[in-house]
Amino acid sequence: MGNYGGQPVLILPEGTLRSSGKDAQRQNITAAKAVGEAVKTTLGPKGMDKMLVNSIGDIIITNDGVTILEEMDIEHPSAKMMVEVAKTQNQEVGDGTTTSVIIAGELLKKAEELLDNEVHPTIITKGFSIAKTEAIKHLESISEPVSLKDIETLEKIAITSMSGKSVEMISPLLAKIVVESVSKVAENKNGKIFIDNENIKREKKSGASIEDTKLISGIVIDKEVVHPAMPKKVSNGKIALIDVALEVKETETDAEIRITSPNQMQAFIDQEQKMLKSMTDKIVKSGANVLICQKGIDDLAQHYLAKEGIYSIRRAKKSDMEALSKATSARIVTNLDDLSQKDLGSADNVEENKIGGESMTFIEGCKDPKSITILVRGSTDHYVDEIDRSIEDAIGAVSSAVSDGKIVYGAGSPECSVSVHLKKFSQKLTGREQLAVKAFADAMEIIPRSLAENAGLDPIDTLVKIRADHEAGKVNSGIGIIDGGTINAQEKGIVEPLKVKTQAIKSASDAAEMILRIDDVISASKSGPQPGMGMPPGGPPME
Ligand code: ADP
Ligand code: MG
Repeated sequence: MGNYGGQPVLILPEGTLRSSGKDAQRQNITAAKAVGEAVKTTLGPKGMDKMLVNSIGDIIITNDGVTILEEMDIEHPSAKMMVEVAKTQNQEVGDGTTTSVIIAGELLKKAEELLDNEVHPTIITKGFSIAKTEAIKHLESISEPVSLKDIETLEKIAITSMSGKSVEMISPLLAKIVVESVSKVAENKNGKIFIDNENIKREKKSGASIEDTKLISGIVIDKEVVHPAMPKKVSNGKIALIDVALEVKETETDAEIRITSPNQMQAFIDQEQKMLKSMTDKIVKSGANVLICQKGIDDLAQHYLAKEGIYSIRRAKKSDMEALSKATSARIVTNLDDLSQKDLGSADNVEENKIGGESMTFIEGCKDPKSITILVRGSTDHYVDEIDRSIEDAIGAVSSAVSDGKIVYGAGSPECSVSVHLKKFSQKLTGREQLAVKAFADAMEIIPRSLAENAGLDPIDTLVKIRADHEAGKVNSGIGIIDGGTINAQEKGIVEPLKVKTQAIKSASDAAEMILRIDDVISASKSGPQPGMGMPPGGPPME
């Protein structure tokens, strides 16, 4: 081994990047702030869209915080933590992603000012944590109850969530669809409402106007009727789900059938016909008038089924079979001899419809009312994607309001209310934490400020007004992004779920606190395995 005299002792492999102390902190804060800045201009109804172009040239045009951040190729570790903030927000409540990231960035900006004034990071994180708890408590105290019966309020939540998106013009119609979908899948378990958004299927298809977007209470499958002589519409559908081919099996080994006379030939054909007839008879006997087959259906079998007026589909997807089984209570049958009336599912209406030039099958009025599909329509694929994202956000907002049972009014009013409250609250504290709580209070103003800036209003004047309103006890005073000045968000019908606001503050503050606690960033070199100290030439074995 080498001579250690005078050499620094390395404990990390060569090529490792390390920054520590103030450097690390500042770099982290700068990176995280940059992420907040990047999405700030998209906040609110007057926010701008971003066009994202990936390395192969695909484009996405969106205003949705989490989509923007997911698509950006973010490298810096603390910037990545900010992306996590948006993702958490999206998972937990499905809306408010931009808000959460902007708040996190602003908290760090205020923290930086405190660091400049020699306030220790642990004091700042402690203050932020106190402020966060108090902010959430305050938001709860200004919230109002909401339930599934308050259709009008729920629709306002959906409209608020879609405002400023490219779907704004049509948001009342979409809001109706969203609220109806959420009501349909909501389950009441011991007085508590549970909503599984997964139950709301969305099927995208371009080539029509956005107005054609509709809620289908049932399942839509991308298949047409197999034979032209079959009915294109069946009411009071009795549905058989079959996972066997309605075909005469080809011999699997190389068996040879020798036919030596015309009589034998006829007998052979008769035999095949008889087999197919007996298969279709079993379906007819069960009482089915709709047949969804996961495998193939022979031409002759199609003919027999058509004669019986059975609406049949072949080669359905496995996932569609499962969805249909759940929706119609049909059992997927793998042996035709087992098929009986009790295996059939039911649906009020089974119908073939032309959608965007292709025929699809609509199975509506299913036994399980929780099976629903939103058919998302729009002119182009990009537009349909953005409509779909807006609908997803609105579903998230409405269902989180319903399951939590509480709402607040928006337009920056809750954030301003929290800010004014925290300023008062901080006066009760002693010591330097007071400074951190005060900084937290100031940071909350970034939301009304950005809403005003993005609407082209004078941010200083508007903030002075909204602050004064809140100090005078007008808790619902928000930013008048259309007429300027302040408005009463309740009167304007700007409604948001409480959870969107509390979660945004919680995840923003958690991320800021975490970033502030870091004083050392040690990153492994990216250039493949490095020879470690004392390694033989040639380096460590490759993994
Ligand atoms: P996020 O990703 O955080 O949901 P949005 O771009 O959807 O970001 O903007 C949400 C903000 O816009 C909320 O603060 C909400 O109260 C506000 N907002 C929505 N509609 C209006 C409106 N008509 N007037 C003023 N503010 C509004
Ligand atoms: Mg939103």
